[in-house]
Amino acid sequence: MENQFDAIVIGSGISGGWAAKELCEKGLKTLVLERGRDVRHIKDYPTMTMNPWDFEHRGRMTKAFYQENPLITKASGYGEDTTHFFIKDADHPYVQEKPFDWIRGYQVGGKSLIWGRACQRWSDYEFKAPKKYGYGIEWPIGYDDVASWYSHVEKFIGVCGNDDGIEAMPDGEFLPPFELNCVEEHMQATLKEHFPGRHLVQGRWAHLSEPEQVHLDQGRGKCQCRNLCMRGCPFGGYFSSNSSTLPWAEKTGNLTIRPFSVVHSIVYDEASGKASGVKVIDTNTKEEIVYNARIIFVNASALNSNLILLNSKSERFPNGLGNDHDVLGRYVSFHNYRAGAGGAIKGFEDHYYYGSRPSECIIANYRNLKEQDTDFVGGYTIFTGAYRNRAEEVPEDAPQLGADFKHRLSKPGDWRIYMYMQGETIPKPSNRVYLSEDKTDDWGIPLLVTDVGYDENDEKMVVDFLEESQKMLEQMGCTDLYSYDSKQAPGLDIHEMGGVRMGKDPKTSLLNEFNQMHQCKNVFVTDGACMTSTGNQSPSILYMALTARAANYAAEQFKNNVL
Ligand SMILES: Cc1cc2nc3c(=O)[nH]c(=O)nc-3n(C[C@H](O)[C@H](O)[C@H](O)COP(=O)(O)OP(=O)(O)OC[C@H]3O[C@@H](n4cnc5c(N)ncnc54)[C@H](O)[C@@H]3O)c2cc1C
Repeated sequence: MENQFDAIVIGSGISGGWAAKELCEKGLKTLVLERGRDVRHIKDYPTMTMNPWDFEHRGRMTKAFYQENPLITKASGYGEDTTHFFIKDADHPYVQEKPFDWIRGYQVGGKSLIWGRACQRWSDYEFKAPKKYGYGIEWPIGYDDVASWYSHVEKFIGVCGNDDGIEAMPDGEFLPPFELNCVEEHMQATLKEHFPGRHLVQGRWAHLSEPEQVHLDQGRGKCQCRNLCMRGCPFGGYFSSNSSTLPWAEKTGNLTIRPFSVVHSIVYDEASGKASGVKVIDTNTKEEIVYNARIIFVNASALNSNLILLNSKSERFPNGLGNDHDVLGRYVSFHNYRAGAGGAIKGFEDHYYYGSRPSECIIANYRNLKEQDTDFVGGYTIFTGAYRNRAEEVPEDAPQLGADFKHRLSKPGDWRIYMYMQGETIPKPSNRVYLSEDKTDDWGIPLLVTDVGYDENDEKMVVDFLEESQKMLEQMGCTDLYSYDSKQAPGLDIHEMGGVRMGKDPKTSLLNEFNQMHQCKNVFVTDGACMTSTGNQSPSILYMALTARAANYAAEQFKNNVL
């Protein structure tokens, strides 16, 4: 009986936290299985209030560490202050058939501790485009199906932003936005005057700019704009599972979290035609344990959810759970983050700004909306902003203390503008992940092989962004223009998606409109693995909305004894 629950959630990150919250609130005894260690809000944020000089290596890692961890140290925001929330390369190997930088954070809270917190809604254009322009299958849902769930999530986690009335990036339930600075206002006005249909707005960010009662009830407070978010925030100023959904679920008395529990596979019961439970390996003792439940939510993050399902083999499903057609593990996609641009701008030297701001501005996608207006498909969001450099950099051999040093550091220099793209990529059967036939990890689980790359469409999109960003920067009055194509491998974009896609037709997809497996109805996959296409918005808030929607549906089916 100890191993029997109403529901099991695999993974405690952004989507798993939401599954736990909704299922526990509906009264289901819920077990959350997490492969990593426990991380408690505030107590387990060792660097949250440290000063730069408190760090042994002033925020960097040692040369030896970089050599041993060439992959994970590439992650945005990685450093001495955040290292404990990322994996180490050698501990969690995988096989790169093509280069793929898989960025992971294995602990209670997952990547919710270290995410960037950008939270735009998908537009209906993004749901419709793959079918309309012939680069993907039809989504089984549209914007109207998720709009109220976006609201549900936004109100609880707290998302700040403006109502901007842009079709390509719908408005939501926002807390007050952070301000634009004077150059960003100039950028906004320039686009409005010279680039009809292009809108620069303040980003939508999961920060409590003005907490409401529901946030105070979570024990969270106002964002202090410290911009030290990835260390864990003692104020709960940004959304993480650790500060929000998991403690909320715990308060119901229905939650059990089991850290150090790597899920090996889902157990399928031939007689009932349903999953009966989950096989776990204790990462410390290597003991195998089976937990049973009537509902299983798979939220291990996109590629790990693929791995678990591929490894869930039975007589009925020899190629992985629900995989009658070899679609599982295919159509993996990601966001194209390769290109950026920027320049200097004159005329605002008598203006400055006060303090830090945890958000960025966004130029909403303007490509391929009502019709295909380029030689590629899909769109791109641009993240952008303006800031002031220091007037002069202090050379490393000059004294690093004293009045002169302080004076040189505090003199403001040029205003500068930066931009970078977040582009949609096409889901293709050839972009896939699968299990290694001969290599396993420390717990005997097959390693994942990543076979994912860019295509011609991605190259064309990069060219378009580079041309258009130069035009916009020139029109804004920028000089000293620069641009780059980093050619970075997929993965570093940290928005991997697909492999277990939703769809109307069970012959070409694995999940229905409620993220329920077509072939195994009590298993729900609601993290990035479920994505039919990538859109161009930051995806995590959609995973949260889909998770909340699916969990409420599952709880209702549970109560009606359908599941
Ligand atoms: C630096 C960075 C910046 C980002 N910025 C943004 C942003 O601005 N906006 C945005 O939308 N997204 C952003 N993301 C992406 C975002 O973090 C992910 O989309 C999100 O965390 C996915 O949620 P998840 O629940 O699927 O996975 P995770 O949050 O990764 O949680 C998955 C959990 O499952 C656990 N797990 C994995 N395998 C197993 C197993 N076999 N058994 C048991 N447990 C397992 C993991 O340990 C982990 O705790 C960013 C990511 C990074 C790294």
